[in-house]
Amino acid sequence: MAVSKAILITGGSRGIGRAAARLCGAKGWAVVINYVGNDDAAESTAADVRALGGQALCVKGDVANETDVLHLFDEAESHFGRLDGVVVNAGVVAPSMTLAEMSAERLKRLFDVNVFGAYLCAREGARRLARPGTGAGGSIVLLSSAAARLGSPFEYVDYAGSKGALDTLAIGLSKELGPRGIRVNAVRPGLIDTDIHGSGGQPDRAARLGSATPLGRAGRPEEVAEMIVWLLSDAASYTTGALIDVAGGR
Ligand code: NAP
Repeated sequence: MAVSKAILITGGSRGIGRAAARLCGAKGWAVVINYVGNDDAAESTAADVRALGGQALCVKGDVANETDVLHLFDEAESHFGRLDGVVVNAGVVAPSMTLAEMSAERLKRLFDVNVFGAYLCAREGARRLARPGTGAGGSIVLLSSAAARLGSPFEYVDYAGSKGALDTLAIGLSKELGPRGIRVNAVRPGLIDTDIHGSGGQPDRAARLGSATPLGRAGRPEEVAEMIVWLLSDAASYTTGALIDVAGGR
């Protein structure tokens, strides 16, 4: 059956990426679910996408590795025969500390995944979404963070800076790709209830800090997915270069 859209989501197996994959599936779209280690989570998300009416393909690979990224995009194109959107979502945090305490190894890995990996995936989107001669393009959605404007002092200034880079990428790349009909936007979630906080050593972080935000709670991954999928959709046809907060007022 022909698919109406094919969307590649890096880090699509868990958290916000998983919620976006499920919502794409509910629209009947095809989804390429990239992940780096957890095979079971990826297969479970793919099963959800299929059960919701979409098509799914899981492709394991580290976004910080160019060979893996090229393989990921090649697989996506050869499996579904088209690519309409890329969600540059894979990202990591590391344990809370001040910049003075951070090792060079930590800084290098964080910027490798969150910045270098994101730029590589956005580059492949820029190369492959264009359809010369048709005027039709596609949509690139970058997962930034409210941290880009808050700075995350005493916790993750490295992470916050990596997300600032994605805001700047959305501004510049939208100008490069607009004439080719490709839209580029950044979504800046606030405190969203996913595993990422546990991976930084603070599993209760979203609930603890979320209660002090204007809406009084942490966000759900599905609430961010709604914005991602809107930006991927034709309903967002005049939105590009936007940095959109989904942060409950934080
Ligand atoms: P998460 O629950 O920790 O899930 C991370 C996903 O990324 C998993 O699918 C993981 O795959 C994958 N991944 C991690 N490193 C990767 C790599 N090197 N290559 C390929 N895939 C990789 O994260 P999340 O909370 O959903 O966050 C998603 C994005 O939103 C991130 O960019 C994050 O910075 C941003 N964000 C999150 C929040 C929040 O509060 N949650 C707030 C603002 C921004 P495996 O399952 O194989 O490990």
